Amino acid sequence: MDTKYIFITGGVASSLGKGIISASLGKLLQARGYTITIQKFDPYINIDPGTLNPYEHGECYVTADGQETDLDLGHYERFTGIETTRDNSVTTGRIYLSVIESERRGDYLGKTIQVVPHITDEIKRRIQLLAARQSLDFVITEIGGTIGDIESQPFLEAIRQLRWELGPARALNVHLTYVPYLAAAGELKTKPTQTSVKQLQGLGIQPEVLVLRSEHSLGVELRRKVAHFCNVAEEAVIQSQDLPSIYEVPVNMQHQGLDVICLSKMGITPGPTPELGPWRRFLHMRSLATEALDIALVGKYDLQDAYKSIRESLAHACTYHNRLARIHFVNSEGLSDDNVAQRLEGMVGVVICPGFGLRGTEGKIVAAHYCRTHNIPTLGICLGMQMMVVEFARHVLGYADASSSEFSVTSSHPVISMMEKQKAVTQMGGTMRLGAYECRLTEDSRSWHAYGRQTSVRERHRHRYEFNSQYLADFERHGMLCAGVNPDADLVEIVEVPAHRWYVGTQFHPEYSSTVLHPHPLFMDFIGEVKRL
Ligand code: GLN
Repeated sequence: MDTKYIFITGGVASSLGKGIISASLGKLLQARGYTITIQKFDPYINIDPGTLNPYEHGECYVTADGQETDLDLGHYERFTGIETTRDNSVTTGRIYLSVIESERRGDYLGKTIQVVPHITDEIKRRIQLLAARQSLDFVITEIGGTIGDIESQPFLEAIRQLRWELGPARALNVHLTYVPYLAAAGELKTKPTQTSVKQLQGLGIQPEVLVLRSEHSLGVELRRKVAHFCNVAEEAVIQSQDLPSIYEVPVNMQHQGLDVICLSKMGITPGPTPELGPWRRFLHMRSLATEALDIALVGKYDLQDAYKSIRESLAHACTYHNRLARIHFVNSEGLSDDNVAQRLEGMVGVVICPGFGLRGTEGKIVAAHYCRTHNIPTLGICLGMQMMVVEFARHVLGYADASSSEFSVTSSHPVISMMEKQKAVTQMGGTMRLGAYECRLTEDSRSWHAYGRQTSVRERHRHRYEFNSQYLADFERHGMLCAGVNPDADLVEIVEVPAHRWYVGTQFHPEYSSTVLHPHPLFMDFIGEVKRL
């Protein structure tokens, strides 16, 4: 099959939403009946973002096959519903690692290993790898970083070569830039875009399509000017103005014909415009929702992107419940018994967030205690679930020094402890329990009902520690039940307090698999209870 490749690069500034544009284009091509996938190449040297602090690049997303990836893969999945894999996320570090491993094995038969051709060949191989495994009409490749970065040069050289090798019918370059508005002059400025395109041209890449991000409408004249200066057809200059929700971007892109222009440039007759029915219904429901639900995210990273998938999952579920999610970040670090009532005042639901390390964990325990004893619907995810368990052990089972062995080696009640397999692990990167595992649900539990009475589900994990099963009977006698278990390792995956309105903790991350068209059942059930004031 002659898979076609669309390369998406960014210029002028970072954070312009290349991931959203890539996901939107994927969505639009999919709506036309094409099979697609989207991959991200990140120029940094880390092998994967697993060891990165969320302040660096936001949340670490996890694929079903257990790869720790950039958060843009979350957008790809939420928009298109495709399941990405470890090969959808590649960093400079991974490229170099495989080239260096090959060199050590002697695969290069005495040759000098160089950026060109060895590194660029490896990049080209990985761009084409996904299509070698499954039949795909389009592979969309997003190149992280901004034109001009030293790190992204080998990736740009690789896509230059691929475009040349595959030709215009099988490869296309889309470039996203920013058009700033100078308030003092009352003008939109296109110079940075022209400069960015010139830089690309200097590297031998001529973008066929330009997407201009701006806070104001650009107007025909300005787009004509950009087209003129950049060797791009007028109709191929698309505007991406700020919108109230990222989920409006695919409709806006369709309206401006981004998919049509990409197809036409590759010699395909586009055919009729797909309706995007379910997607538009989602947007319609969103526009009708007026009542907001105040939901607290109790965590330690005061940064929008740190809990991206949780925020999006809440937004999906609220939309389907005809509500808006009004999310309040509550820093667990400053949370104490003295201020928790005031900090959580007015919150109708609480999510206790995942995390690593001791900082802020006592605050999560305080929040769990407050929510449990005040009957506030609460979802604890991963570390959040673990802190729910520790709180229950301290205050209900009476084990005052109960803890997780991640934080205390001296606790006489390690109710959360390290998985046996993890004890021998010395490396930090990629060594946790990662990816999707089966979870068998306990009949008649809250979660079993939430999942539509399925007996078994698969959910994604990212943790080293787990519920210590030695204590299970003790917990169950006192009212915290195990509602889901992994059948292979007998690990507790979900805990619940049935006497409470909604108090559920999951060792896995349900937020990684909520999509626009398929909101996650646990988030749906949680919001269903939250709105029942
Ligand atoms: N730090 C905890 C563990 O490793 C929880 C991880 C998480 O919340 N993702 O088990």
